[in-house]
Amino acid sequence: MSEPSAIAANLATIHARIAEACARANRPPGSVTLVAVSKTNPQQAVLEALAAGQQVFGENRVQEAAEKFPALRAAHPAMRLHIIGGLQTNKARDAVRIADVIETIDRPKLASAIAEAMQKEGRRPDCLVQVNTGEEPQKSGVARHEADAFIRAAREEHGLPVSGLMCIPPVEDDPRPHFAFLRDLAARHGLKVLSMGMSGDFEAAIAEGATHVRVGSAIFGARAPA
Ligand SMILES: *Cc1c(COP(=O)(O)O)cnc(C)c1O
Repeated sequence: MSEPSAIAANLATIHARIAEACARANRPPGSVTLVAVSKTNPQQAVLEALAAGQQVFGENRVQEAAEKFPALRAAHPAMRLHIIGGLQTNKARDAVRIADVIETIDRPKLASAIAEAMQKEGRRPDCLVQVNTGEEPQKSGVARHEADAFIRAAREEHGLPVSGLMCIPPVEDDPRPHFAFLRDLAARHGLKVLSMGMSGDFEAAIAEGATHVRVGSAIFGARAPA
């Protein structure tokens, strides 16, 4: 785990780099939200980030998020939790209960499970559709050629509050064309939120229009291999 001062210093560095990337892209400095990806890091690391003013967090696994976050909310009502990992339908209800944003809607069965969970929980977290822009078989996300139809179905058939799109480009590719694809797809559907860019490529994502960047290791330090 990083020292407290290290997390605060890393956050300041990332904010400065976001501001510079916005300036280079002629975008207003406040147009990008930093989602601090705290997966695998202990609650203490989240507390240190909160103390440094960070309020938006991302977690991959619903179970891990459920252990770390609800206890913090009472003292930090402004904090926001994004679920950014692939979701199984049997986790839909827990996800709806704890998340403010679910970034990984990617198939009809999940869309319908989330819609049903929203009814039962009386809560409607914002939803993003995850697109597998690299068409990688091992990765979550709707395929490129199915994305238009799925976005429409998620909104119109399942009634989900879809506010945008999310992607994770293949590690070996230049990410820029993937980010540009996602931006154009969002524009076609009138969607405002673009969650794209991680520690290694968030500046490129901002150049292509990211509204949310998901940064983990550059804030909390390297994670142990999964
Ligand atoms: C882990 C993760 C991140 C953060 O990755 P870093 O390279 O540590 O910044 C972002 N998005 C998703 C979906 C992740 O799983």
